Amino acid sequence: MALERTLSIIKPDAVAKNVIGEIYSRFEKAGLKVVAAKMKHLSKAEAEGFYAVHRERPFFNALVEFMISGPVMVQALEGEGAVLKNRELMGATNPKEAAAGTIRADFADSIDANAVHGSDSLENAAIEIAYFFPATDVYTR
Ligand code: UDP
Repeated sequence: MALERTLSIIKPDAVAKNVIGEIYSRFEKAGLKVVAAKMKHLSKAEAEGFYAVHRERPFFNALVEFMISGPVMVQALEGEGAVLKNRELMGATNPKEAAAGTIRADFADSIDANAVHGSDSLENAAIEIAYFFPATDVYTR
């Protein structure tokens, strides 16, 4: 497996539930290192830009409104197979379908408020990390 980086966002619902540390702990226990991080209250334009791929989907406006409803915690994670590993830790998009013990099964309330975002491919991970962090703010540890 190759050393990879992926982009993770702890969404407003999970930040409001005060489980940032619990989610970070899962990353760490799975061997993922936080190599960049910031708390940020996204502007509408930032959220729309981040989710531009979903612009035509029926849930787009609700998704953007949710993502700007409070601060989020944004981090780049590094580790062996980080993209897939993070997706496995997250669980399915719909928490009702998420496997027991995953972040979404434990902390998400609904498909709209589903606690975390994670890049779905290595290519998107690079794009998404660059969307939030200049290269000089991502650290090798
Ligand atoms: N989403 C939603 N309703 C849906 C499908 C998706 O609100 O029917 C939201 C949900 O927050 C999800 C995000 O849109 O996390 C992006 O959808 P995607 O299919 O990329 O899921 P993910 O990669 O986050 O699991």
